This record gives sequence, structure tokens and C-alpha cells, in this order.
Amino acid sequence: MLYLVGTPIGNMGDISERAVEVLSSADLIACEDTRRTGLLLSNLGIKGNLTSYHEHNKASKGNVLIQKLKEGLNVVQVSDAGMPCISDPGSDLVKLCIEEDIPVTCVPGPVAAITALVLSGLDTRYYHFEGFIPVDNKERKARIEALKRYNETVVIYEAPHRLLKTIDDLIEAGFSDCEAAFCRELTKKYEQVVRLKISEAKAYFTEVPPKGEFVICLKPVFEQKEEKELSEDEIESMARSLISEGCSTKQTAARLAELTGRNKKDMYSYVLNLIK
Ligand code: SAM
Repeated sequence: MLYLVGTPIGNMGDISERAVEVLSSADLIACEDTRRTGLLLSNLGIKGNLTSYHEHNKASKGNVLIQKLKEGLNVVQVSDAGMPCISDPGSDLVKLCIEEDIPVTCVPGPVAAITALVLSGLDTRYYHFEGFIPVDNKERKARIEALKRYNETVVIYEAPHRLLKTIDDLIEAGFSDCEAAFCRELTKKYEQVVRLKISEAKAYFTEVPPKGEFVICLKPVFEQKEEKELSEDEIESMARSLISEGCSTKQTAARLAELTGRNKKDMYSYVLNLIK
């Protein structure tokens, strides 16, 4: 069985009893950094059998772990901090296990994104987890632009040395007036939540250089263009033009279902009626 085990995001007191139990009885513990997890285990008085599993070896190491699991070993996967699979390796291993019919379970623990969200004071009912914004400039711009689509609270992970760059990029993309919560060093001694508009954050973090790990929660203020509902005449003319372009009944129905939000089967009968 594969166990995905959550570990603290800073405060060692946040390790759960079940996490300790599962780590103590594991045959093998796959972790990002053996030194870091070794330290966690030694704090807990556990002598674990560690092996590295990270972004750069996950393709080859995944197969080795699958082999061990097939031999009947209990394998634990942990991240450097927080939950595996959340902006961390793990999900590829879960996919492999599913493909190979290997049981997977999870011992949940803290997640920086959720800890920040609940402290942000922003809407917690609907939110979008973005994680890290890509470093590459072109991808970065595209992702930031895409964030304007969301009405929900947007949750971003950021390293301290990139925080000001991210604030600048958000300002450039028009996010200046968005309310935000900059949550740093969560669960640690110097935990802090700075609630400011993005434009104000630029001045604040220029004055107080960012230190520690950050989660940014944003309340977008972009007006969403309302999708106009198509009239029956427009649907019919759309259907006719798709058919005249050579689309099959099935293709036409699928496209109409996509455009109108209606059921594919209903659209199929609709197209059949239209062409008979
Ligand atoms: N797996 C982790 C989780 O469950 O939250 C996330 C790992 S991701 C590689 C690391 C990022 O998470 C950091 O760059 C930071 O944005 C955020 N993070 C992790 N611990 C944090 C903390 N104590 N305070 C604020 N942000 C934190």
C-alpha cells in the first residue's frame, strides 16, 4: 500500500499521531530530501528507511517504488513540507499506483494554501488554487492574464526572492486594486498576515524586504463578461452552418452542446430532426 503522509509546514507540533504511526511502521519512506526528512524522523525518534523521490528522478524512481509496492512493501511518500502532491511530487506516483491497481491511502496534514486561505479573511467558499506561477516570462504573463477569469479567491505560492517581481507583474496586468493577504511563515514563530491592496503591497515589501515562505491570497476584481444565451434561431443557424461545413451529426451535436451548455443527447436528436 502507498501512504501519502502530510507533514508540518513549519511547526513540528502539527504532525499527527497517525502520521507518526504510519512513518514508524513503513518499510520505505520516499521523500524529496533525505536530510530534511531524516531530521523530521530523528525529532520524532523514528529510524526510517529513506529513499529520494523528487522532481528530477521521479520518472525512473517511480518504477522502482512501484516494484517495491508490488513486492508487498508499505511505502510512505512525504514532501519536504505539507501535503504530498500539492505543488510537490507525488501525483505521478499516485497515477502509477492506480494504473497498477496498487492501493493508495492518505494521512492528511497541513497545507500552506488552506492555512493561508482561512487566515486571509477573503471568501473561503469558492477559491482557485494556482500554486507557483511559472518562472518563464511568456508563460508567466499568460497565467497571470488567465487569473482574471476567476471571481473566486486566488491562492498563489511564492518564494521570497520572487515576491516583488510577482507583485510588479500583477500590477502590470491590472491587479493593483485587488485586495490581498500576504501570508508568511505560517505556523512558525514569525507568522504574519499582511492584508493590503496589490498596489500598496509594492510599497510595503520595498520597505520591508520579504523573508520566509509566502502564500498570496487575492480577491480578483475583474468584471466577467456574461455569456450571452443563444436564441433558438441562432442555434439553428449555427447547426446548419456546421453541417454545411461537413460536420457529422455527432460532431455538430457535440459542438452545439458545448456552445449552449445543453445535453449532448438532446442536441443529437435536435440535429437529426433538423436534417430529416
Ligand atoms: N506541499 C506543500 C503544501 O502542502 O502546502 C507546498 C510545497 S511548495 C514546494 C512550497 C511553497 O509552499 C512555498 O514556496 C510557499 O509558497 C508555501 N509554503 C510552504 N510552507 C509555508 C509556510 N509555513 N508559510 C507560508 N507559505 C508556505
